[in-house]
Amino acid sequence: MAQQLIDRRDQEFVIWEQMALEEMLADERFRDFNRKACDLIITEARAIAVKEMLPTLAEGDRQGVRFENSAVKVPDCFHRVFDLIVEGEWHNLGVPQEMGGQGAPPFVSAAAGEYFMAANYALIAYAAMGNGTANMIQLFGTPEQKRLYVRNLTSSKWGGTMLLTEPEAGSDVGALTTAAVRNPDGTYLLTGSKIFITNGEHDLAENIIHPVLARIEGDPPGTRGISLFIVPKYLVNADGSLGKRNDIICTGVEEKHGIHASATCSMSLGSRGSCIGYLLGGERAGMKIMFHMINHARMSTGLQAMAYASAAYLLALNFARERIQGRDLENFANPAAPSVPIIRHPDVRRNLLWMKSYVDGMRSFFYFMTGLGTRAAVCRTEKERRQYEDLFSMLTPVVKDYMAVKGHEVCVQAIQVHGGVGYTKDYLVEQYARDCKITSIYEGTSGIQAMDLLARKIGMNKGAVFVYFLGRIQETAATARQFDRLKPLADQVDAAQKKLGETAFNIGRLALSAEFRTAFAHALPFLHVMGDIIMAWMLLWRAATAARALDEGGHAKDLEFYDGQIKTAEFFIGTELQVTIGKMNAIEGSCPAAVKISDAGFGGL
Ligand SMILES: Cc1cc2nc3c(=O)[nH]c(=O)nc-3n(C[C@H](O)[C@H](O)[C@H](O)COP(=O)(O)OP(=O)(O)OC[C@H]3O[C@@H](n4cnc5c(N)ncnc54)[C@H](O)[C@@H]3O)c2cc1C
Repeated sequence: MAQQLIDRRDQEFVIWEQMALEEMLADERFRDFNRKACDLIITEARAIAVKEMLPTLAEGDRQGVRFENSAVKVPDCFHRVFDLIVEGEWHNLGVPQEMGGQGAPPFVSAAAGEYFMAANYALIAYAAMGNGTANMIQLFGTPEQKRLYVRNLTSSKWGGTMLLTEPEAGSDVGALTTAAVRNPDGTYLLTGSKIFITNGEHDLAENIIHPVLARIEGDPPGTRGISLFIVPKYLVNADGSLGKRNDIICTGVEEKHGIHASATCSMSLGSRGSCIGYLLGGERAGMKIMFHMINHARMSTGLQAMAYASAAYLLALNFARERIQGRDLENFANPAAPSVPIIRHPDVRRNLLWMKSYVDGMRSFFYFMTGLGTRAAVCRTEKERRQYEDLFSMLTPVVKDYMAVKGHEVCVQAIQVHGGVGYTKDYLVEQYARDCKITSIYEGTSGIQAMDLLARKIGMNKGAVFVYFLGRIQETAATARQFDRLKPLADQVDAAQKKLGETAFNIGRLALSAEFRTAFAHALPFLHVMGDIIMAWMLLWRAATAARALDEGGHAKDLEFYDGQIKTAEFFIGTELQVTIGKMNAIEGSCPAAVKISDAGFGGL
């Protein structure tokens, strides 16, 4: 039967064969999870995603959220399925057991997350966002705060949010003006306005716990003067019961391009002068603490984009197998020849393989990162932990933006494969393309991820992390060279990583020179060539894994799957990677036109 949302065989290949994540299960913290249990959980997650969540996707988009008298109603069809998710505790699969979650290995939670996000991102986000809020409280809260909030958030009895953005403080969070004043009892009074707050108000939880960034009266400007406060919608009494309504209200919801079922709220704090907040962590430590949630959210955003891309690709693939149009190219001049499914046309095949190469590469990249994160947590030595954590940190902006941008491009190409009907609301690819666009905007825009990579990440530990990263690619190339048919591919990937090293060195040097503006004008293209080379690396790694399985005689039913891995690597390295070489030449050329052109020179005056 045609696969929906996620290609199950591909997901299994990445988890068990390519990334060999089974070895993680040896750690004591995952003692309840053997391979069979993991497979069962993923199978069940797929069933609930396909049978229960997916049917609410288009309906949720059509009805959207409704704002009435400071209240927000989610689409009607969400309520029953939300209850199912929460009763089955699907939303807290990866949350540690001591916080009330299931404690599943992160790769199992990612596998289920792929399905849930592809089936209905807006819906799963209502249930799962509280985990991020809970995590910050668990790490930085007082024992009392942990007792009052953590389990109510991870159980999804209460919802969670993150309140950073203000009308004049978007990418520049340090410009925020929400103010906090100390009360004699140790609480704070907050006043200000926040905008674009995901799930800031809705009717799926009895309480909502808002982590709010604000500046305590008299604290310095910029990010170093920011503190973080827990601001509950309903104050919570010492015995855990709900107290009086706090002075934080939703003043409206946005009409958006996509994710219509997700409530994007404007929030007013302290309009009656009585918005109570509780400090989380120390004063002025707000940004450091919030970054725990932001980094997690950046990974999750990459997964969101990949999930949309995966679902859109499978829709396009299934459509291309069924849609009959045009004659086979070899019968082009013969009007009597039968029409064929469009998957027979070389241009459609190219487009499908283009989409497959990105979806496959992104999936492998994501599980590589998941493996790094888990290895950092379970490894024995401090040196290893640092190595994994640093690489994870360096690659986070690439996961976030590359997957957002490529995920969206895949969704757009899925429309193309559908032709005219793909542009209508009758087919889900149209919604996936709209919904996916947000991923390159929230949790830090493309431009912000690129700055993070160039200014903070590639030079980490005097470039040692970048060198380690390139070394990992070289290792894969060496493995792939053991298979004759992969040698030319391995050589090309090896040459590309070498050139990437030179490009990184040159752009890094430019960033430290008087021409630093020019370097930053090339920062996003640099992030994207890094992503391209990671795709080539991941696909070569897949091909080597498949070649080994073929050499070992793999099951007959798997032969085409494995051969497909090798063809996908051949395609990407033979086409897309060639363009990447040109893009690296362009970055090395350091054309300064974008910074030298005068403002008036852009025209339009
Ligand atoms: C649907 C949705 C949900 C959201 N959910 C949340 C949420 O839950 N909580 C929350 O706090 N916020 C949320 N946001 C806000 C989101 O994080 C911001 O919109 C985003 O960070 C960009 O800020 P901005 O919109 O003010 O754009 P701006 O910061 O004004 O940026 C405009 C453009 O300028 C570029 N730019 C700005 N500064 C720089 C710079 N220094 N260098 C290079 N380029 C720059 C940006 O890349 C962008 O292309 C959400 C937004 C949307 C649309």
